Amino acid sequence: MPSDDRDICFAAEDTLGKLSKWLRILGFDTVYPAGFAGGSWIHTAEENRILLTRTRHVRDRNTDRKLVFVNSNDPFEQVRELIQILGIVPADTKPFSRCTRCNIQIRQVDRDSVRGRVPDYVWETSTIFQICSRCRRIYWPGSHIKRSYDIIERFFDAESF
Ligand SMILES: [Zn+2]
Repeated sequence: MPSDDRDICFAAEDTLGKLSKWLRILGFDTVYPAGFAGGSWIHTAEENRILLTRTRHVRDRNTDRKLVFVNSNDPFEQVRELIQILGIVPADTKPFSRCTRCNIQIRQVDRDSVRGRVPDYVWETSTIFQICSRCRRIYWPGSHIKRSYDIIERFFDAESF
């Protein structure tokens, strides 16, 4: 698949788990190997990935890489830091297009095929289901998505920068 210049992807160190999850929710390809300390693997990430670190020696050892040194302790503020530093706009995002566990794109599946694999009330009230082909987790639009969209809106709320 041709990648365009605005394709933004990341490699995050293990102190940035919640930030990584949000980046995946926003649709960004984000490598985050839990349990590996940042300094020991992050430099091995592909060249096109923007390295995300909170560790000074990781920053200082990777001056030849695209890298963001994350200052905030708070995951919400960390996302906002990235949006501001990298100039990310809502059009760069594809919310809820990626499995938050596996980091791969989810695909739509036939509603009948998930019957019995999601709670009955969900199956009865939802028309769109997506699945991760790796972990087989099934995703559907629910109240958690509405809440997440509210948070995403606040990520981009320029007023409060
Ligand atoms: Zn998955």
